[in-house]
Amino acid sequence: MKGDDAAVEALRALIRIPTVSDWDPAREDRSTFETILAELRERFPRLHAACDVERIAGDALLVRWPGRTREAPVVLMAHLDVVPVGDASAWTHPPFAGDLADGHVWGRGALDCKGSLVATCQAVEDLVEDGVVPGRDVWLSFGCNEEVSGGAAKDAVAVLRERAVEPWFVLDEGGAIVQGALPGVDAPMAVVGVSEKGTVDVQLIARGDGGHASAPRRMGPTSRLARAILRLERKPFPSHLPDATVDMLERAGSHARMPYAVAFRHARRLRPVLSRVLPRLGHETAAMARTTVAVTQLSGSPGANVIAATARAHVNMRVMVGETVDGAVERIRSTIKDPHVEVVLVSGDEPSPVSPTDDAAYALLESTLRDVFPGSVAVPYVMLAATDSRHFHRVWPRVYRFTPFRMTAAQRASIHGVDERIGIDDLRDGVAWYRRLIEQL
Ligand SMILES: [Zn+2]
Repeated sequence: MKGDDAAVEALRALIRIPTVSDWDPAREDRSTFETILAELRERFPRLHAACDVERIAGDALLVRWPGRTREAPVVLMAHLDVVPVGDASAWTHPPFAGDLADGHVWGRGALDCKGSLVATCQAVEDLVEDGVVPGRDVWLSFGCNEEVSGGAAKDAVAVLRERAVEPWFVLDEGGAIVQGALPGVDAPMAVVGVSEKGTVDVQLIARGDGGHASAPRRMGPTSRLARAILRLERKPFPSHLPDATVDMLERAGSHARMPYAVAFRHARRLRPVLSRVLPRLGHETAAMARTTVAVTQLSGSPGANVIAATARAHVNMRVMVGETVDGAVERIRSTIKDPHVEVVLVSGDEPSPVSPTDDAAYALLESTLRDVFPGSVAVPYVMLAATDSRHFHRVWPRVYRFTPFRMTAAQRASIHGVDERIGIDDLRDGVAWYRRLIEQL
């Protein structure tokens, strides 16, 4: 079996292996990773024969497909692990069955990230079968703990550096081919992540005396914490548009309807106005224009009739390109404006640099996208979520985050949600795109 059908069957097989990453390692079954690595060997024998396949960081794969020249190689990334499913009964098709129905392959990981994992492997498998040798080395880096911010990608970077590998560019999961993501633009847009926001986790801790609930004091730890949270909500971070977002609007402008066309084409000049308008259009466009603050976890008293001696809130922030982790924490402190609420930094990852969009690497992505997805418009953007590729971006300048599948809004919502699924034709076109990209290297 070759090509399209093989990719569909491989994806179904991989979905049936529940490689779930969990923040609590006790809830993980690492034997599923042995199974998926064996399945990959079986499904992609030519890839395994033609490439140096190495297992690193426990269950991750680092693969080198030797090219014809010593030109700077490319790195194609994906990850083997998936997020848990929660309530499986909410799914139309069971999340780990790999059902094929209504022209779609259903299941956890279909889009994030087993779809692009399979599409990449199938493209390589078919090219090897056709006797194609890439113009330069192609590395594949498949992580095993992306969904829990594990260290496999860091290890991959360390191994590549040790071997003095200097990639021309790195391609990881990210934006997709979407419609209706920007108002006034009807053409499908291939949104290519050129940077990603930073992440900060802090704890807010308010302490007091606790005691019996029958005789409460004013402004105990829970009230103090509640006031702090409301202050954060009422005073969001200032909005501004980074250069990458201006670049996106300008490129989308020539494909937009009036009056958006004018506004987008002059995005650089209209930057102050746009940065005020975007946050008002919805929570997603707001997230494109400012550092976001989400209170995710709360804890207080251990008993229904006990006043909390300590109340805690976990705050997850996504830091805008152009800002810093320290700056974000400092602003949280000054917004809360209460010396009795401790702000403790748990972890922080700075925003990524911005990959160039005016050189040959980006142009190659653009031209191959035009070839395989005629009528689509490639635009750069700043990713809101974090990916493994941020570790590569700390070291190398050209990191692009793009998953070559058409995705509807419902499909995008199914990632980490319910009813994750990929269209069979979309998977096929994804294989075609990776193939085209490798052929053009
Ligand atoms: Zn992913």
